[in-house]
Amino acid sequence: MFGSNFSRRLAQVAVLLSFVAASTSGHAALQNPSSAFSPAWQRPPASATPLAPAAPTRADILRGAYGPYRVNNDLLSYHLDIRVDPEQQSISGKNSIRFKMLADGTRIQLDLHPALNVDKILFDATTLQYVRDSGAVFVDFPETLHAGQEYTIDFYYSGHPLQTARFGGFTFGKDPAGHPWIYTACEDIGASVWWPNKDQWRDEVENMQISVAIPNGLVDVSNGKFMGKTDLGDGYTRWEWLVQYPINNYDVSLNIGNYAHFSDQLGDLPLDFYVLPEDLDKAKKQFVQAKGMIEAYQHYFGEYPFQKDGYKLVEVPYSGMEHQSAVTYGNHFTNGYLGRDWTGVGVSPKFDFIIIHESGHEWFGNSVSAADRSDMWIHEGWTTYLEVLYVEYTFGHEDAIKYVNGYKSKVQNREPIIAERGIAATPPQDMYFKGALFLNTLRSVMNDDARWWALIHDFYQHFKYQNIMTEDVVQYFNRQTAMNLTPVFDQYLRHTAIPTLELRFNEADGTVDYRWQADEPDFAMPIRVGKKADWQIIQPTTYWQTLKTPLQKNEFDVATDLYFVNVSKQ
Ligand SMILES: [Zn+2]
Repeated sequence: MFGSNFSRRLAQVAVLLSFVAASTSGHAALQNPSSAFSPAWQRPPASATPLAPAAPTRADILRGAYGPYRVNNDLLSYHLDIRVDPEQQSISGKNSIRFKMLADGTRIQLDLHPALNVDKILFDATTLQYVRDSGAVFVDFPETLHAGQEYTIDFYYSGHPLQTARFGGFTFGKDPAGHPWIYTACEDIGASVWWPNKDQWRDEVENMQISVAIPNGLVDVSNGKFMGKTDLGDGYTRWEWLVQYPINNYDVSLNIGNYAHFSDQLGDLPLDFYVLPEDLDKAKKQFVQAKGMIEAYQHYFGEYPFQKDGYKLVEVPYSGMEHQSAVTYGNHFTNGYLGRDWTGVGVSPKFDFIIIHESGHEWFGNSVSAADRSDMWIHEGWTTYLEVLYVEYTFGHEDAIKYVNGYKSKVQNREPIIAERGIAATPPQDMYFKGALFLNTLRSVMNDDARWWALIHDFYQHFKYQNIMTEDVVQYFNRQTAMNLTPVFDQYLRHTAIPTLELRFNEADGTVDYRWQADEPDFAMPIRVGKKADWQIIQPTTYWQTLKTPLQKNEFDVATDLYFVNVSKQ
């Protein structure tokens, strides 16, 4: 069952890849459990048997693989210029896509959901031919495009975008007063659910213009810096936004509503807030937390990544999403997560989970991004760890340790954190909680907070505005620490189980034998054991070693709040 499914799946992948050729290599919003699309960890637990994931579809592979018609070009910029009609629940317009060819070729791959029409694709005055294949649009040029040259095409499209998938895709809604409330959230299904783009994670544009025409009287909040609005004279006004940094496709968003606006400043950084008028007073109180959040993350990692674009919080009816420089917020202006003590240990009620988590993604997810969805722990594991750092900075180390250990009850250990590459697969929810507990473990492995703070600061600075894979993280940590942390990363990220410290007591001799039980044969990790007030560090490997101890089996402790491990005492 598991085995046969898995091999059939691999065979299918192989067949499909032969069509799309070369393959290489979220963070996700936390959703409102009362909405139709609840997060994976709020679904009922499945049976304990290993999961046989559904076979990837041809569409998954076309979207997930970095195929030959993606690898042959490098995105430079987009100008998305659309009109949104709330009455017809339709959109229309174009994306001007500027790219540089990396190899000579006559074809590139873009993506647009099959529910939307391709109206025409222009290359200057030439109408280009194209082939649609599920979500992919293969665009053909009449002459060879040359490596090193830059080109722009205008991709016109229209139709009724779908409200779909876990985050909603594109939603035409209404606010409680009956005004249109229209928003996008598409990390899982992909941005091509509502606009044409090169819908993958590896390649980002360097900058982007977003022009959104909407009925007069409504406000559009998109990513980047607000550049102004123009009355088009036909009952519509066009809102202009400029993104001055690389941006993930799925971060590109529009939020159209009857928004009230207020602003603030943190040093030179403009802070802008958009909420429904009836929520203005509550927002002015609750959104004060944005400043403390930015200060905390700047303390650990350095300057807010999108300084020129500013920082925005935008009210939406779902719980929230990390849309770059325009973070969406739906946590009801209360602390905790949707009114709950999120990690159940009394720390979460001290702050607004959505402000702290979704904004943490500005550093990890939006600035440092994964190059393939399989490695989405770089977004979610890190950002969940950023919550812990926020708690430490704001409320102290004791609360931080309590908070991160509160996540243990959410860890499932049913699948590895890193999913299969190249098929747009979503990793399991362990990428959040186990990811954060793993990073807290690494801090203890370093056993030198000054070095740890420098390491994570420099790691962020080294990879900011880049798209990376787990291998880049491991290589950086190994180089900077002069340690071989590869088996440690691999055990936590590429295997299901966490390591178990096996202890065998021989009280007559006053000794204890110890070793790691782990899937990685070379797994070796120091750990604090003995008496809490006076920990002793041992260096277990997967081979037995012996330690002299005056402590009895029941007195001998392991610092399991600092290291995410199991302990077996015999
Ligand atoms: Zn997240």
